[in-house]
Amino acid sequence: MNTAADKHTPLTPITAPWVHEIVRNKKLLNEAIAHHHSPINIHDVRSFEENIAGFKSVFQKYELKHQVFFARKANKALAFVKSAKRIGAGIDTASFRELDQVLHEGVPATQIVLTAAVKNSRLLELAIKNQIPITIDNIDECNLIHETCEKLNTQAQILVRVSGFEFMGHQMQSRFGFAIDIAKDLISQTLASLFPRFNYIGLHFHLNGYSIPQRAEALLQCLVLSDSLRTEGIDTQVIDIGGGYLINYLSSRQEWDLFIAELKSSVLHQRSAVTYDRDPLGMTILDGRIYGEPAVYPYYNEVNKAQFLEEILVYKNSDGIPIHQLIHDRSIEIRIEPGRSTLDQAGITVAKVAFRKPDTNGELLIGLEMNRTQLRSSSADFLSDPIHLSTAAHSEEEEYYGYLVGAYCLEQEFILKRKIKFNTFPQVGDLILFVNTAGYMMHFYESEAHLFELATNLVYDADKQHLIED
Ligand SMILES: *Cc1c(COP(=O)(O)O)cnc(C)c1O
Repeated sequence: MNTAADKHTPLTPITAPWVHEIVRNKKLLNEAIAHHHSPINIHDVRSFEENIAGFKSVFQKYELKHQVFFARKANKALAFVKSAKRIGAGIDTASFRELDQVLHEGVPATQIVLTAAVKNSRLLELAIKNQIPITIDNIDECNLIHETCEKLNTQAQILVRVSGFEFMGHQMQSRFGFAIDIAKDLISQTLASLFPRFNYIGLHFHLNGYSIPQRAEALLQCLVLSDSLRTEGIDTQVIDIGGGYLINYLSSRQEWDLFIAELKSSVLHQRSAVTYDRDPLGMTILDGRIYGEPAVYPYYNEVNKAQFLEEILVYKNSDGIPIHQLIHDRSIEIRIEPGRSTLDQAGITVAKVAFRKPDTNGELLIGLEMNRTQLRSSSADFLSDPIHLSTAAHSEEEEYYGYLVGAYCLEQEFILKRKIKFNTFPQVGDLILFVNTAGYMMHFYESEAHLFELATNLVYDADKQHLIED
């Protein structure tokens, strides 16, 4: 059904040199899969360290006191904790085990922050004993922190998480933190009177989405709040602006734009299917019309990582003064908590082909020894072409189209919903390699249904050209 009008829509991933090196080393991959079973995750900390250095160089350019805290929730591997410690970066922890592991690695308290959405007394005891700064979210939590301080006869280092910023005449809604318009009273009155063991060090926010103006406006409102607190003698030493720095997965804007356009034609039956069963990837189709946009991560971004951060810092307030100058003038330490963006190019996932078959409509399905929770984020699909490491001879004439399916016993169990092109017919035992999966894709939703084991996490040692267990 692929006519001339029905072009395939490739999404060519950006791939780091170390991935090319690994792709050429099929022996290494085949041995690793044989030993650890399919799938495996392979990490490279050099990309992680470059990404953090990129953020730091922006702060250095504007001579700002700063710290970068790697948000651990984006990847579970300990290799990144060790690497962050080595290069003096901080770590944002969100659970008992995340914090406990980081402490065991010997990361100093000043380089850790606890931002967990739900904090119980076991977690708080660990944090307070170690004097880890804690971001507070609600009054019940404040009571528990304060009780824990009394029990341990000590103080707690406190960042106040704020939200509900005004943006273009509306209040930005959030389930997290305290509304910015009550934060001044909270800090200057409630905390001071009810929680004398709190040592207020600063403000924190983390916004959903990827808007530069929203982050900049939120930061400006935090600066206004800190000025107002200062008139009452309360010093805001730190403002932590959270994570959410875009990364770029794809090498071509044209491919991305074409894919979105062809996806829409496909769901309206104006061309052959681009996704399995013309899945609209989160768009709503009603009476032959499309409503909304695909519910997917924006995989193509020209402004990303360090440059994305810089655009926040050069944003100007209503008097025309750039944010970096406002921060510099006040000697405030600016912190960020990037997760995904520190992991750009830092990991891949490799799985083995188990079977090929036609489905009831004759579509080619390629079964992988893997399940969809091992390549999953909140995005409706991972929109990047996998690399097929074929054992068969390459033929120039033929190309094959099919879908990658996984091991969970569900009709919806697709590793990728998008139709994938293969230059050679996949063979049992071939490897399929997914690029740039370290940020959320490999770990955030991984589960053990059917008692399948979780994927093994390996770290690539480029000097020795071998893989070590995380
Ligand atoms: C998830 C999260 C982050 C990291 O977000 P990314 O989009 O991965 O950069 C940082 N801080 C908090 C509080 C978070 O919840």
